Amino acid sequence: MNNEKQSIAVVGAGIGGLSAAYDLAKDGNKVVIFEASDHVGGLAAGFKEPHWDWTVERFYHHWFHSDEHMLGLIDELGWSNQVIFPKPTTVMYYRGKFYPFDSITAALMYPGLGWGINKIRFGLIGLYLRLTNNWQALEKTTVDTWMRKWAGDKVYESMWEPMMIGKFGEGYAKVVNMAWFWARLHARTTRLGTFEGGFQIFADKFAERLEQMGVEIRLESHVTEIKAADNNGISITTAVGQTEHFSQALVTTSPGLLARLAPDLPKTYLDGLLSLTSMGAVVMVVSLKHQLSQEGYYWYNIPKAAGFPFLSLVEHTNFVKPEYFGGDHILYIGDYLPQDHAYFDLSKSELEAKFLPHLQKFNPDFSPDWVKKTWLFRTKYAQPVPLVNHSQNIPAIRTPIEGLYFASMSQVYPWDRGTNFAVEIGRRAASMMIQDKND
Ligand SMILES: Cc1cc2nc3c(=O)[nH]c(=O)nc-3n(C[C@H](O)[C@H](O)[C@H](O)COP(=O)(O)OP(=O)(O)OC[C@H]3O[C@@H](n4cnc5c(N)ncnc54)[C@H](O)[C@@H]3O)c2cc1C
Repeated sequence: MNNEKQSIAVVGAGIGGLSAAYDLAKDGNKVVIFEASDHVGGLAAGFKEPHWDWTVERFYHHWFHSDEHMLGLIDELGWSNQVIFPKPTTVMYYRGKFYPFDSITAALMYPGLGWGINKIRFGLIGLYLRLTNNWQALEKTTVDTWMRKWAGDKVYESMWEPMMIGKFGEGYAKVVNMAWFWARLHARTTRLGTFEGGFQIFADKFAERLEQMGVEIRLESHVTEIKAADNNGISITTAVGQTEHFSQALVTTSPGLLARLAPDLPKTYLDGLLSLTSMGAVVMVVSLKHQLSQEGYYWYNIPKAAGFPFLSLVEHTNFVKPEYFGGDHILYIGDYLPQDHAYFDLSKSELEAKFLPHLQKFNPDFSPDWVKKTWLFRTKYAQPVPLVNHSQNIPAIRTPIEGLYFASMSQVYPWDRGTNFAVEIGRRAASMMIQDKND
């Protein structure tokens, strides 16, 4: 039993790293967070124009009512009164038009399934997936195989296949396992939430609280190497060439990056990290002078086959009020793409030329002079791809290097990635670290 104050490093100030630091600090440890960028929040971070009161996430974000780990943490921090759950409208595309698809009644009215047996099958499948907890059986097969068998080709091809292709591309849509699909249906609600001021305000407040608890957050501190230290513990080297020693370290980056940062990890663990695949995301944020969706729709799901050069169009200010953004109307134009897709190399103006002309299909009055400003955000690590029997491929949080831990989006399986699960895995990792240091 060792009751000494421990000095612990956390690599990454995303929601996972901040959550782990919270529990480690509560346990009385000295915690140092290394963050490569100039802000906290990671993939959930946001930005703000001078005339906006609220921040906008770089990549569209919201919470579900079922996000118990995130909402539980916010409750513990005493900020539940700053979480709001508006009820925006999500729509699905069918033959050139969009139809609401965010309640059982709306799904029943959606014309894409026709009437009769297909609607019943669709309803029964949804009910079964909500009720069953046996995801282990479902991970043995793909969404494609399971859906064709139980929902039928028509229901699958009209409803779910376009979503699978949109999210994973033609390359992976047929090989993603059914537990991933189960998790999405099982853990999501139609009510969507956010923090007053946006996710960045939450992340900044959380970081401030951590600093009050004694956590040191070092921004623009890029970790370049992680090694087992000679006399126990972990040594961390940053881009400025400084090496420091910690009793334990938690890494919250992508698996590929951990493999590069800690090449001394045993080959089997490294191979496991490198075998994991993920999709990237490209998101353009657009501020407009006018509201785009005349119907006030928030989220447009668009099948790739409909010929749009993007997967989703999200009018953020149909979720939270444009008044928070000085009257600007905020749009996201987004897509999940393979990491070698051309969109990762095109310039912002080249992508504007591809995307913006299509806005007229959502509102015939749209004209280019509606656009006030655009921002482009890209990440190659956006959406892990879970293949059949994926549970056997999840890297352990306790890595084979004693004192080195790993908690990322790729390990929250069977759940799909999300800030809720970043909180869960960050706190789970912290509890293992606390347990190990006390053993
Ligand atoms: C397009 C998109 C939409 C999403 N939508 C939602 C949503 O609606 N709701 C939701 O809850 N979640 C959503 N998510 C998922 C959510 O953003 C993630 O699950 C969550 O933010 C992951 O947190 P994390 O701490 O595990 O990792 P990250 O947020 O990736 O944090 C890792 C941190 O490590 C830092 N880092 C990387 N390399 C180094 C280095 N060498 N040295 C130091 N620091 C380093 C990074 O800068 C980053 O800050 C979405 C994600 C994307 C991409």
